[in-house]
Amino acid sequence: MSFIQCPYCQSSHVRQTDSGNAHANYFEQLQRCISPTQMAMFGMQVAKKAGVSPFIGATVGVVIGGVLVVVSQYCFEKYYSNAEQYVCLDCQQPFAWAK
Ligand SMILES: [Zn+2]
Repeated sequence: MSFIQCPYCQSSHVRQTDSGNAHANYFEQLQRCISPTQMAMFGMQVAKKAGVSPFIGATVGVVIGGVLVVVSQYCFEKYYSNAEQYVCLDCQQPFAWAK
């Protein structure tokens, strides 16, 4: 049996939580940071400075944004496939514990 401690207050009063919720929250936040609209706007600004068509810039921006989302999704899955989600019962802080 493994001994799991809260990383914030060192308490051993922890409870395992549903990791599915953490995944959903993470991707919600990620998609808010790297939305296709924001990447298109960014691409258009770069295109304007580089002297190319804003339409091409927007397309490139959306493609780069899509790649960023996929890559971070892959890294996240790789890391969290070995981790379990816990919540501390003393300080209420959620944390991931790698097995
Ligand atoms: Zn704690």
